[in-house]
Amino acid sequence: LSDGPTLARIDAARAEFAKTEFTAEPLLACNVAGLKPRRVHNPATGQLVGRVTDASAADVDGALSAAKPWKASAAERAAVLNRAADLFEESFGPIFALLAREAGKTQMDAVAELREAVDFLRYYAARGLELKQPPLGTFACISPWNFPLAIFTGQIAAALAAGNAVVAKPAEQTPLIAAHAVALLHKAGVPASTLQLLPGDGATVGAKLTSDPRVNGVCFTGSTETAQLIRKAMARHLAPGAPLIAETGGLNAMIVDSTALPEQAVRDIVASSFQSAGQRCSALRCLYVQEDIADRFTDMLFGAMEELSVGDPWHLSTDVGPVIDEEAERGIRAHVEKARKEGRLLRQLSTPKGGHFIAPSVIRVSGIADMKREIFGPVLHVATFDADDLQKIIDDVNATGYGLTFGLHTRIDNRVQEVTEALHVGNIYVNRNQIGAVVGSQPFGGEGLSGTGPKAGGPHYLARFTAPPRPDKAGNAEC
Ligand code: NAD
Repeated sequence: LSDGPTLARIDAARAEFAKTEFTAEPLLACNVAGLKPRRVHNPATGQLVGRVTDASAADVDGALSAAKPWKASAAERAAVLNRAADLFEESFGPIFALLAREAGKTQMDAVAELREAVDFLRYYAARGLELKQPPLGTFACISPWNFPLAIFTGQIAAALAAGNAVVAKPAEQTPLIAAHAVALLHKAGVPASTLQLLPGDGATVGAKLTSDPRVNGVCFTGSTETAQLIRKAMARHLAPGAPLIAETGGLNAMIVDSTALPEQAVRDIVASSFQSAGQRCSALRCLYVQEDIADRFTDMLFGAMEELSVGDPWHLSTDVGPVIDEEAERGIRAHVEKARKEGRLLRQLSTPKGGHFIAPSVIRVSGIADMKREIFGPVLHVATFDADDLQKIIDDVNATGYGLTFGLHTRIDNRVQEVTEALHVGNIYVNRNQIGAVVGSQPFGGEGLSGTGPKAGGPHYLARFTAPPRPDKAGNAEC
């Protein structure tokens, strides 16, 4: 973010797209019925960002009838996806503005997210060349609002690289950025019948899509509860063996023991818990600090929190933006207020007015077992532990059933081995920031209630988007 050309592009985007009204509608290879347009508002200011025409139930049917797998060689598909990556980079201005204004992303988050979307396009374009099996057919790609460009694009790029038709349903909260991305993919050369966009409501459009037998596979990122609904819908209607590739929620913990480097641990905790207003599946939710350093360490943590600037992400100085909408704000606020009433709210920054803001907060818990669900906002829960409690922490983390990320700050070598071997968690971060995922070099995915695997951005991901190899006469399948 600090390089000159990026800052100049941010300035230009801020000047040109501060008030632009964006639009989105179903992008289908058939006639569109659509619903009445609705307004999309900026979560930080309440201002209008644009209007979306959501798809109707009839549009789901039309899209699936019109869907056609991509009739192009793997090399041609890769060339188109790479061209799309170029177009994404060239479209910095509107993408930056949409990420900030529609999704409430800070500048740092917006730039990183565009980078990740471009990386997904290029990475899957390259990996697609190695695939041996044909496409499955039509994929439904259903994505969340918290990475409305990177995850949305990553899912689509994977399904397309394998040659599938895609019907993409973005989150209700972020249809404008999705429509912009699909328009760029079409411009790059993806045929209209191979990539269609169905903006709309999850419970109607999403449910209808995932329960239709013409869908040969579902790629989903979102909450664990929605993934469970989709699994049920697929069990009723889809061909046996149709894959559900799901990346879902997490209850992520970190241990900081008394040998840890405190400055580094504090920096990582603040980034992991509060960056993106805590709206990352990987974000740290429950911190365990060793008893003998706990007072000094939490003082340092509170001091670092005071440095955070909470507000409209359109301003360069903002570190923590809003949560996505009123429903999210209400739910997180109720959780924090309950803790306040119970005398467990240890620290809260002051809350700006005017948008869906939740100030970064720290709540005392006795351990992760106190947390019944993922609180998807800038709220950190803190517990203390003694060296003898380590096994209990591991057992409690495993007992949540989630297994997305885990952080460990220690300088005891065999502790790293002990903890990492015993945990059922997809991504473990030792003495470093707990929120990283790097396409191609640090794939990301969870276990248990946190996802089905294989890890996105990793070498085995694309194979799930292809038809399984047929066994030969001896019953051996070539992979
Ligand atoms: P969500 O489950 O509410 O919605 C995700 C998508 O599913 C949306 O497009 C929604 O419209 C759709 N949907 C809702 N009901 C549906 C149904 N019955 N059938 C089909 N589709 C339906 O999740 P969200 O609030 O958008 O996103 C936040 C969640 O996503 C958090 O739990 C977070 O941890 C998780 N997430 C996980 C990862 C990961 O990689 N593991 C990444 C990002 C977000």
